[in-house]
Amino acid sequence: LSERLSGVFDRLTKQGALSEDDVKTALREVRVALLEADVSLPVARDFVKKVQEQATGQAVTKSVTPGQQVVKIVHDALVDTLTGEEDPGELKIDNPPAPILMVGLQGGGKTTTTAKLAKRLKEKNGKRVLMASLDVYRPAAQDQLAVLGTQIGVDTLPIVKGQSPVDIAKRAKQQATMGGYDVYMLDTAGRLSIDEELMAEVEAVRDVANPRETLLVVDGLTGQDAVHTAENFEERIGISGVVLTRMDGDGRGGAALSMRAVTGKPIRFVGLGEKMDAVEEFHPERIAGRILGMGDIVSLVEKAQETIEAEQAERMMKRFQKGRFNMNDLKMQLEQMLKMGGMEGMMGMMPGMGKMAKQAQAAGVDDSILKRQIALIQSMTKLERANPQILQASRKKRIAKGAGLEVSELNKLLKMHRQMADMMKKMGKGGMMKQAMKAMF
Ligand code: GDP
Ligand code: MG
Repeated sequence: LSERLSGVFDRLTKQGALSEDDVKTALREVRVALLEADVSLPVARDFVKKVQEQATGQAVTKSVTPGQQVVKIVHDALVDTLTGEEDPGELKIDNPPAPILMVGLQGGGKTTTTAKLAKRLKEKNGKRVLMASLDVYRPAAQDQLAVLGTQIGVDTLPIVKGQSPVDIAKRAKQQATMGGYDVYMLDTAGRLSIDEELMAEVEAVRDVANPRETLLVVDGLTGQDAVHTAENFEERIGISGVVLTRMDGDGRGGAALSMRAVTGKPIRFVGLGEKMDAVEEFHPERIAGRILGMGDIVSLVEKAQETIEAEQAERMMKRFQKGRFNMNDLKMQLEQMLKMGGMEGMMGMMPGMGKMAKQAQAAGVDDSILKRQIALIQSMTKLERANPQILQASRKKRIAKGAGLEVSELNKLLKMHRQMADMMKKMGKGGMMKQAMKAMF
């Protein structure tokens, strides 16, 4: 998947600029990649359409790094689609005891997730939690939750044989109220597939408990099946969010995108293993990265950027060797410095500016000096920028006034420019230029 995308973006970055056709071609590949990541066809189609609209609106052809722009547009659109309105990790647990209903198919990870979230509520939120297993079908199911409860130090509702799930839910509510618990969690029984009996039972429990949160737990590895399950539960029971388990496996994350797009329900947590700590709130960026194979692409983009910067440096170097270093060049450098971490990081690297950087630092000057210098250059006419030697008193006054600064500050800038220009000329002759330029970019 990431290989395919890298290939596409590689071709794009080599072209230097993106045409609308290029965007289309790239997005065709993105669509295939999404399908391979297990995103459903209609979702992939819609997604690509949305990105295409966004990309076309932007000045892609003018981009210095077109590959980066496409990656960013695709990535941002993924994050956008995956992001809900509320904080996914914030469970609604006001008005104690707050009921949380856990639903899903058998083996999806309900019981495990119930315990994981109980532990999280206890440790992160400082809540008193009561867990109850409503699984009266599998012989060891209620014991399984009790064992986990002991392990994490969270109370479980005492097991009473022969009760129905609804009876247990009522008892849990009672016990939670009397025992002064903040939250009680109801771990329902699953089935191998969705059937009427299961839905009716969960519905009855829901009506008794009136849950603040109904979390659907689904196996993230099951892809489209998980989405189908979510649709069914949402329609019949109504869910407040989804927990995707087994995201520690090699699942490609596409289910998350489909899940969100199809059901409109937020993904709240992801399960990342069998251990009790292996749960975290959902981070859209991580899934987006996983779907895109972002690691590869980011390094690719960096490489592309280096190439472009090297080319730019080469061009500037040629000008400097010819003794040309005007105010436009200086402005470009100042802007570059601002972009690359400002004064502290860059000044020391620039020829002739090391001393000034130290002085500036000693005087407590920050990046605002860069901004003021840029403002001064912006206040110059084209002619003045190209030929700073023509600046006489009246011109200087006008320029300083235009930038809202003192003439003395402009004089400092001009002195700095002269020093730098001298330095560059000398180095141009001595062949040190290349090294200096490398240090600069
Ligand atoms: P339930 O039938 O829905 O209650 O599912 P369980 O909670 O009993 O989990 C079924 C199996 O999946 C157990 O062996 C769990 O340890 C395992 N499991 C649950 N969540 C995860 C997860 O996020 N990652 C991994 N690798 N295994 C999980
Ligand atoms: Mg279970």
